[in-house]
Amino acid sequence: MYVLTDQNNTYRCSLRGKFKNEFALKKDKLYLTNIAAVGDMVEFEVTNGNGGVIHSVEDRKNYISRKAPKVKGASYRGERLEQIIAANVDQIILISSVHEPEFNNKTLDRFLITSESAHIKSVIVINKSDLITNDEIKNWTDLYEDIGYPVIVTSAFTGYGIGELEKILPNNITLFWGQSGVGKSTLLNVIFPQLNLKIGDISESTRKGVHTTVTSIMIPVNETTFVIDTPGVREIDPYGIKKEDLSHYFRDFEEHLSNCKFNTCTHYHEPGCGVIDAVEKGDIAFERYDSYLRILDTIEEDLHF
Ligand code: GDP
Ligand code: ZN
Repeated sequence: MYVLTDQNNTYRCSLRGKFKNEFALKKDKLYLTNIAAVGDMVEFEVTNGNGGVIHSVEDRKNYISRKAPKVKGASYRGERLEQIIAANVDQIILISSVHEPEFNNKTLDRFLITSESAHIKSVIVINKSDLITNDEIKNWTDLYEDIGYPVIVTSAFTGYGIGELEKILPNNITLFWGQSGVGKSTLLNVIFPQLNLKIGDISESTRKGVHTTVTSIMIPVNETTFVIDTPGVREIDPYGIKKEDLSHYFRDFEEHLSNCKFNTCTHYHEPGCGVIDAVEKGDIAFERYDSYLRILDTIEEDLHF
């Protein structure tokens, strides 16, 4: 069931059965778990009151996806399905926190390369800065700023950095993305108090009857500004990235790739590797290279190109 809005109304729609079959057979995206996704522009017909049927999904400008969580029996010949998180996004705000959960650069890198592979601009937000006394996070903010990513340090509790974050939202479709518990909903509530999103840690008793977001939702802030809130995830696996392409999504590796002796270099053990040279010279941060190797190791050979 899809919940759609036009300027004035909200409709609960299903997919036209025939269209569903046609779409599922499209060669390029054979194993999608979701046919229409948050952010899609669709044509739909109102069939009764607030109910309707989706007839078609317009071509996407872009979309961001991940490997769907493993579900027994759902994959085809052992392959993992692609789950679209959102479509037609202008920018992605990748949120992490300094503590609870602890800042984890490897997790951030997984989100970053997923955004890079979708060719969508990302901004890094590091929240809960009220939990650190000094500039404990500065090494990380410097590292990512040097690579070229905007970094905004925030505290949803004290309001630190919120103004800076607010400034980049107008006239954009912005996806708020990150691990669960980093403060996505809290930040959105501070910026848009009218949203009144549910916060993660409220006790079981007060949670009763409160609707928990299990799918992504797109929230119209005004006619030209939209934010997409995503349910918490623990970790993401990028979908559809080949081993030989991974290094292209590490922006800081890019200028060194042409120095590799072999153009099929995976920058792991090959001789004459420009990336390894750059790590040794300190031109690429070791933490990024370490992240790269971990992701390289987990990219499964289960792709169907
Ligand atoms: P989400 O899963 O990313 O949407 O995270 P929530 O917004 O539900 O927040 C998870 C927990 O972190 C809640 O207990 C919030 O009160 C807390 N939290 C959110 N922002 C901050 C912050 O800036 N500082 C501190 N100390 N805690 C925060
Ligand atoms: Zn190399």
